[in-house]
Amino acid sequence: MIHAIKGMNDLLDDDALIYEKIIKTCEEVAKTYGYSYIEVPHLEVTPLFKRSVGESSDIVGKEMYEFLDKSGDSVCLRPEGTAGVVRAFIEHKMDKAGVVKRWFYHGSMFRYEKPQRGRYREFHQFGLECFNIANVYEDASVIMILAKIFKKLDINYTLKINSLGSPECLQNYRKALREYIANIENSSGFKFCADCAKRIQTNVIRVLDCKNDECAKHLINAPKLSEFLDDESRADFIKLQEILKDNEISFVIDERLVRGLDYYSKTAFEFESSEIGAKAAIAGGGRYDYLVEYLGGAKSYGVGFAMGVERVMDILRSKNIEQKLQNTYFCILDEELLPIAYKLVDNLRENGKTINLNYEAKKLAKHLNIANKQNYKYFIAIGSDEASKNEVFFKDLESGEQKSIKYDELKEIL
Ligand code: ATP
Ligand code: MG
Repeated sequence: MIHAIKGMNDLLDDDALIYEKIIKTCEEVAKTYGYSYIEVPHLEVTPLFKRSVGESSDIVGKEMYEFLDKSGDSVCLRPEGTAGVVRAFIEHKMDKAGVVKRWFYHGSMFRYEKPQRGRYREFHQFGLECFNIANVYEDASVIMILAKIFKKLDINYTLKINSLGSPECLQNYRKALREYIANIENSSGFKFCADCAKRIQTNVIRVLDCKNDECAKHLINAPKLSEFLDDESRADFIKLQEILKDNEISFVIDERLVRGLDYYSKTAFEFESSEIGAKAAIAGGGRYDYLVEYLGGAKSYGVGFAMGVERVMDILRSKNIEQKLQNTYFCILDEELLPIAYKLVDNLRENGKTINLNYEAKKLAKHLNIANKQNYKYFIAIGSDEASKNEVFFKDLESGEQKSIKYDELKEIL
């Protein structure tokens, strides 16, 4: 037997329903904030991710599905959504035009990680990006969008926020952090993990993101990013907190929050949930005012987020959401009646009704049995008696009510 690849899953039945519900909710909320749908390729040239996500990130360092295509070009299955959307923004010359763009996307992302609960090799994100708005109100809006989505889905979360400042602040902060780490290693003899040793060389702030407890313990007294912020970043960070408070969004400030990707500046945030075992990030995002330039475009502001759909599904699944009833089971008691039934059903579908027609003639009791087992809401059968009067037998399987109905009354009842 041929199996799916480890860490890659089928999506079906109840899970598929939950998935659709999540995406629909996300789209609805994002649209009210002026975001519209964008689709970009799943496969891009490798340098796009190396440059944008950053060589020092776990994603580029060890998680990319990278290979040579048949013409020998290095390509990569997208590990995240922002890079492709930024590429599209530049490719369609929207950076030069200086237009404001708000886009949302959803779909598969690929990372070669160790598969475990909430961590897969193919997973889905819903994300959005806003270009060319410098105002911190947009940072608040992307946070508010997530807060509204989680409220609609009835999901509890902790929102963590931080500011990474400008590239200059980060440069100064990196220097201080590197000195602090060297000091710890020299004075206590403690050695940070192998991953951190690499991070110290490539992008030292990533040690703050290390999931190793020993490393974290030795960083408790590390210098704080907030002490290095420039005036503008500090003012924006204070404003962001005011806006969130004004709009009743609770948050905590997490000075350690640096996010997994290299391209953030100023606002960084993460939504965490404890409803899926250990605390896990269900969404994260922030501002990236330098990424467009970095990828060869004209200076353009950017802010956005990405939400992990599987982690949200995991929470909703455990909430035992009510089983949705299937709509209508339509059947025949007599083989010759199939053409009539087929036409009737098609007519009802034209009117937007969802109907499953069983093509096989059976006794009424047998059909009823099937419809009940499969959780249908309405049951409709045609036998010769009914057909001779242009009627069907109708039963509401929830209430038990049953009666004969004329063909043309059906569309009002379903
Ligand atoms: P983590 O710290 O959990 O590895 P990350 O910082 O790598 O997360 P992002 O790149 O910010 O994650 O992606 C946004 C969201 O996508 C995460 O908050 C998470 O919900 C989800 N996510 C990330 N990696 C995976 C994965 N391998 N499987 C399932 N969901 C994932
Ligand atoms: Mg990760």
